[in-house]
Amino acid sequence: MSDLKIAVVGGGGVGKSALTVQFVHSKFLADYEPTIEDSFRRQVKIDEKVWMLHILDTAGQEEFSIVNDTHLRKGDGFLLIYSIIDFASFSEIPKIRSKILMIKEETSNVPIVIVGNKSDLEKQRKVHLSEAQDLAKSFQTPFFETSAKTRYNVDEIFFSIARMIRNQ
Ligand code: GDP
Ligand code: MG
Repeated sequence: MSDLKIAVVGGGGVGKSALTVQFVHSKFLADYEPTIEDSFRRQVKIDEKVWMLHILDTAGQEEFSIVNDTHLRKGDGFLLIYSIIDFASFSEIPKIRSKILMIKEETSNVPIVIVGNKSDLEKQRKVHLSEAQDLAKSFQTPFFETSAKTRYNVDEIFFSIARMIRNQ
């Protein structure tokens, strides 16, 4: 079995832990300590081959700039999360992506998937689908909207990043 390391990054409160726990344990966390950084594992089968996904749920940093670089460098791929009801979390995406590329010492060739979470809260939407799609396109990065609450596209984002890492 091969190991794939995935880091889940993004602003505070966007749903990084809720997405991770929904993927690994199939349940929705209404509340999770915002400062806990933890790693999770789930075995998956992709195209008939078994992989162990190691998922690092990052946390505890108001400013992404103080995230532990050595820790993040171990990520083979990154789920870059914002919340569709929090425009500021979307605005941070380019900065966080640059930071990842810097840490990985790459110009563009790092597996990244951009994720707009909390899609169930359509009435409070602050980030249009089209502007997120445009941003993802400019980075040539896959993009999904998700809901950790309804499980919409939760498996899809983890499988998508796993495939990208594998195909590298
Ligand atoms: P983190 O700081 O990025 O890890 O965010 P959390 O996973 O702790 O989520 C912050 C809050 O948003 C919690 O109260 C979650 O229950 C809630 N939340 C996370 N994802 C969703 C979602 O998809 N839909 C809704 N309605 N709430 C969510
Ligand atoms: Mg968290």
